[in-house]
Amino acid sequence: MKEFLGARGLVLNEPLLWEKGKKGRMGFSLPRRDVESSPLHKDLTNEGPDIPDQSEMDVVRHYTRLSQWNFGVDTGMYPLGSCTMKYNPKVNERLAALPGFAGAHPMLPHQLSQGALRLIKELEGLLSEITGMDAVTLQPAAGAQGELTGMLLMHAYHKSQGSVRSKIIIPDTAHGTNPSSAALCGYKPVPIKSNEEGILSGDVVAQVMDEETAGIMVTNPNTLGLFEENIRNIAEIVHSKGGLVYCDGANMNAVMGIVHMGKIGVDILHLNLHKTFSTPHGGGGPGSGPVCVKAQLEPFLPVPRVVKKKGQYIFSEKFPESIGKVQAFFGNFGVMLKAYAYIMSMGSDNLKKASQLAVLNANYIKEKLKDIYHLPYDRPCMHECVFTDKFLKANKATTLDLAKGLMDYGFHPPTIYFPLVVNGAIMIEPTETECKEDIDLLIEALKVLADEALKDPASLQEAPKKTKVRRLDETTAARQPCLTG
Ligand SMILES: *Cc1c(COP(=O)(O)O)cnc(C)c1O
Repeated sequence: MKEFLGARGLVLNEPLLWEKGKKGRMGFSLPRRDVESSPLHKDLTNEGPDIPDQSEMDVVRHYTRLSQWNFGVDTGMYPLGSCTMKYNPKVNERLAALPGFAGAHPMLPHQLSQGALRLIKELEGLLSEITGMDAVTLQPAAGAQGELTGMLLMHAYHKSQGSVRSKIIIPDTAHGTNPSSAALCGYKPVPIKSNEEGILSGDVVAQVMDEETAGIMVTNPNTLGLFEENIRNIAEIVHSKGGLVYCDGANMNAVMGIVHMGKIGVDILHLNLHKTFSTPHGGGGPGSGPVCVKAQLEPFLPVPRVVKKKGQYIFSEKFPESIGKVQAFFGNFGVMLKAYAYIMSMGSDNLKKASQLAVLNANYIKEKLKDIYHLPYDRPCMHECVFTDKFLKANKATTLDLAKGLMDYGFHPPTIYFPLVVNGAIMIEPTETECKEDIDLLIEALKVLADEALKDPASLQEAPKKTKVRRLDETTAARQPCLTG
């Protein structure tokens, strides 16, 4: 293995605190007592928990070392396809922690929350502008919750039209959460296949679209990283039967300021502020999945909504057709704040540039590797590119081994075996925040690994070799999860 690549973050094993403590060590020192000692009540002097005696320094070093076992965008490149893992400016975290915002209580009367309410209202306006949609709710706390909200909106709309519809069309290139959200709302997903170019064609939609179908849920760009070029035509077909077009826009960093979703026929669209707009994604942290709609769906948006009345921002529940509340209070305000700060600091030109760079970086990787890795759809991609392990077919090594091998070079593995429409998929999203030098290191590592996979598959199957934890038994981990140790 070549040594020049990014494997600098090696961590050594760390004993338990219990293995390290030494009787009599203390983590603090107090001045000498200058009063009579007063023994504790006997009930309080029973054997306490077995906490090892440690000095402050031992404890700090122990936890600092443990904290370095983690891998994140702050430690290295995380080219995870389908779920943007990009670097987010720390200044936005700082702004979200400003005492006036961080200390604001959601139950404060509106007179004392004018700044926060204004920010919510203005962010809705900014997201409308970026997407080309008419109205926005910031309540949902995640992408999948945005999808469910979108489905509830779709249902409320059809109900208002006096129409009962039970099905929804979902292509094989949709994100996995799409059919789940639709099913949770009571719709029966109708799967359709993408064409040989990896996108949807109108005739496939036309075959299944009928008056019992509520609409279609398209992920655009889809999970092959391709833009659904026929979306206008598909929207016409769906609209002609009274249906609606739902677009999963979680990966907006491919099209910000470039695609006007309203004009291409989208009626409902969700965004992931975590992922695109300056909140790190992953690890189950707070998220925000705003839903943007066209004007005819606005009456159904969740309440309460921020409205401006007599120069004051207030919360209003006066939307009789609303689907109600979908989240405690008003959603995750801290995430909204970071998105607001990010959008305002970038400005429209830089948001557009961020998308252009995200697309350029993914296409650069695609072009540099396509002679080695198998590219199932050889056409310009959006923010991510999908390869497969077909070039290894005669061999023993697979996508999994390549992904594990990348860890030895200091990279987080990309998404693998997804999307399901591609066998042995390796899905790479470099994001707009990586520089060319680092992308070149990733490309170099993937080339070296492809070579190793062909020449010495048994060795690659041992990877990762340099990390603290070597290859885990994923089957046992899934079947017998140990969540405490
Ligand atoms: C991440 C993602 C989702 C789900 O978002 P969560 O916030 O994880 O619920 C949905 N669709 C797409 C395309 C995504 O990338």
